[in-house]
Amino acid sequence: MRVPRFTLPPEGVHPDVAYQVVHDELMLDGNARLNLATFVTTWAEPQARLLMAESFDKNMIDKDEYPRTADLEQRCVRMLADLWNAPDPATAVGCSTTGSSEACMLAGLALKRRWQHARRAAGRSTDRPDLVMGVNVQICWDKFANFFEVEPRLIPMEGDRLHLGAAEAVAACDENTIGVVAILGSTFDGSYEPVAEICAALDDLAARTGVDVPVHVDGASGAMIAPFCDPDLTWDFRLPRVASINTSGHKYGLVYPGVGWALWRDAAALPEDLVFRVNYLGGDMPTFALNFSRPGSQVIAQYYNFLRLGRDGFRRVQQTCRDVATSLAHRIASTGAFRLLTDGSELPVFAFTTAPDVPFSVFDVSAALREEGWLVPAYTLPKNREDIAALRIVVRNGFSHDLADLLLDDLHRILPRLQKQTGPVRGPETASFAHGAGAPAGNDGRRPA
Ligand SMILES: *Cc1c(COP(=O)(O)O)cnc(C)c1O
Repeated sequence: MRVPRFTLPPEGVHPDVAYQVVHDELMLDGNARLNLATFVTTWAEPQARLLMAESFDKNMIDKDEYPRTADLEQRCVRMLADLWNAPDPATAVGCSTTGSSEACMLAGLALKRRWQHARRAAGRSTDRPDLVMGVNVQICWDKFANFFEVEPRLIPMEGDRLHLGAAEAVAACDENTIGVVAILGSTFDGSYEPVAEICAALDDLAARTGVDVPVHVDGASGAMIAPFCDPDLTWDFRLPRVASINTSGHKYGLVYPGVGWALWRDAAALPEDLVFRVNYLGGDMPTFALNFSRPGSQVIAQYYNFLRLGRDGFRRVQQTCRDVATSLAHRIASTGAFRLLTDGSELPVFAFTTAPDVPFSVFDVSAALREEGWLVPAYTLPKNREDIAALRIVVRNGFSHDLADLLLDDLHRILPRLQKQTGPVRGPETASFAHGAGAPAGNDGRRPA
């Protein structure tokens, strides 16, 4: 038989045949476990897979029909509120989403609406809302600004500062600033932005000028790393200025793709007029979401992970990722061919560039590793450090010391060949891993996902 690609076939085929055809085509996709570009979970326990398979048919929005699933979602929100030190976890509000992107849209909307209410109450204009953030923000924030008509104030990188600085953030704020986004941590290099310093500088601004700007922490990755690996780092609801936090359940929350979380420190941080009510066990339940129907299985798997691992289990998983990342980073640096920008000691993610005077580019290294099956993205940094091109490795649960050794073996095999080049062969035009690309973003639209 011939497989039609672009029209619905006039007649169907046997399910075994259809399965084999689709299965075989998908063999040509990359191997998810060797994808060191993505932050998203590519390994989970068989028990989590089983629970997900058992619950594919549960629709998250049908709270009335699936009250246990709805309850597990609420328990996850409570657990996260407790983990992130909400003043009263029982009254913190939050919801599951499809990922951090949706969670960031909701958090941004709450900031915008709060600002509008305050401005209207003061008889001031609501024409020109702006949002202050580093140029290194993930593309979802460019989307938020574009879709919801908020001016993005992207603070460029400068010298060795490859993320948002407190002084620079405050300098960009004015009475129209709906919030400052602080990222824990940056997708470009895995570094944590200085959330506490940013909050302190904004406290000072409020005391001096009355301009009182809330902070949203984009903890897509770090909100599930820092509580376990850096318990003394103050970045969360312990800081009164932090109004809301998001994370990707499908990144270091260790669930397969399709779940994120948005939490507000208390009901006051989420304007009531954004919340809708759905029927739930005869009562009504507040919901805040862009989607309506959504699978329940990812939320169920999130609850499974919380129960299965507990605090100590999460700490061991994340600390192992960090150990693998820092060890691999330093061994890559000790080849002499590279210079580290970060070393994996914040997010288990590190970025590195080529040493001066080597005859190859980061794009050559990325291409050579790809021939060995590894996906290691290379990209140019955004505004004011476009001169740096970097490679980035994301260490996730399931990327063991053993796999890291195999990657390093391959790198050692590749380097002598690259050293013989007369000069760099590939440039940024070959960067094929810009998962978030396509939007009119600061750095020519290319952003690491
Ligand atoms: C991944 C990421 C996002 C987007 O998250 P998704 O879960 O993929 O929608 C947003 N912000 C940061 C900092 C990220 O790392």
